[in-house]
Amino acid sequence: ARGEVAYFGAGPAPLPTPVLESASRVLLNYNDSGIGITEISHRSPEANAVLAHTKESLRNLLDIPRSDGPDGYEILFLQGGGSGEFSAVVYHMVSLWIARQKQDLGEDVERLRQTMQAEMKLDYLVTGSWSLKASQEAARLVGAEHINVVTDARKHSDSNGKFGRIPEQDTWNSTKEEKRCALTYYCDNETVDGVEFQSTPDGHNLVADMSSNFLSRKVDVRKHAAIFGGAQKNIGTTGITIAIVSNRLLPPHASMASPVLLRKLGLPVGPVVLDWPTIAKNDSLYNTLPIFDVWIAGRVMQRLLDKHPASSSARIAGQEAESNKKAEMIYSALDQNPQVYQVVPDKSVRSRMNICFRVQGGDESAEKKFLDGAKSKGLLGLKGHRSVGGMRISNYNAVSVESVQKLVQYLREFADGSA
Ligand code: PMP
Repeated sequence: ARGEVAYFGAGPAPLPTPVLESASRVLLNYNDSGIGITEISHRSPEANAVLAHTKESLRNLLDIPRSDGPDGYEILFLQGGGSGEFSAVVYHMVSLWIARQKQDLGEDVERLRQTMQAEMKLDYLVTGSWSLKASQEAARLVGAEHINVVTDARKHSDSNGKFGRIPEQDTWNSTKEEKRCALTYYCDNETVDGVEFQSTPDGHNLVADMSSNFLSRKVDVRKHAAIFGGAQKNIGTTGITIAIVSNRLLPPHASMASPVLLRKLGLPVGPVVLDWPTIAKNDSLYNTLPIFDVWIAGRVMQRLLDKHPASSSARIAGQEAESNKKAEMIYSALDQNPQVYQVVPDKSVRSRMNICFRVQGGDESAEKKFLDGAKSKGLLGLKGHRSVGGMRISNYNAVSVESVQKLVQYLREFADGSA
């Protein structure tokens, strides 16, 4: 039964049981209307209220600037997952870059093409499997010659070709001139490799993938051009992606290159459902939005607000403290038994959300024994990503302190042979 297991899956991931209990009720009957929430129109007043509530909660949790002016940020709900945004950020930031060149250089397509070929760079910080994938998608869309890998963590001298650290910023090869740099992309928390940025990196036109650590700590939103993440880890159910986009990137504060011009330049024109200006203009209701997923996200956010009442401008502060505490409990149990457990990433970049380690140096039978023993105690979802193997404990917000205590007890018992 649900109450007897503690689930540490990496995504989709656990959701708070009370949210799922009320979800099962609203599926049948929303607000006593006799109609279920997945059956109502996404343009109904009820759906609008869900959307407004979820947006407002996110603003309060992360202290997202509200202004309609260039300093404000828009919150968008999209589909296509985190992966869809790998493409969306490229379509958007490249279109903006071209529009700026056009302002400077005029309409001459040949001149624009030459400038683009010589100058346009998309900076990628490759610190794990997901930022690698995002950079590969960018290369697929606009050509590898435009991708500037600012740093590739696998190439660090201590890395053995694997992800597990973030090279020092003074070794990075960033595009110096803002004018040439269409975007600087990073993945704040690498879900597969257990690597998390400890502070916001520097870069022009900064775009962050926060799929796996959204709502786990304060974010310096103002340093970013855009932030995005799939909902299915810390926020809710699979089906929506959230993007927080600076008004500076959107009309009327910014102009975009026209599809005709992009085609003339040999650049891709993205699907309209990924087009941030279109989604923003339509308050995320350009096409049918899965309102149930937005509702779930809103309930999850409301619980965070209720649990951690206003103590700072960003009301995520309380959850941040809890996330840190849970991660510390787990890492200290691992570190106290170094002969049995070896944490994979470097200590300086350990993720608080995805805790990756090996059992007895990756010995196959030891790792199987560890997983079997865990399962027999109702501790589930601990197997690492298939691409890297090993163990992974995902410590998302819905994982309770009690679940972590149960897991820590198992980690200790397995290590001393009493499990
Ligand atoms: N970014 C990160 C950090 C992820 O962990 C994932 C999925 N695990 C993705 C992007 C891709 O998300 P999706 O599966 O929603 O496309």
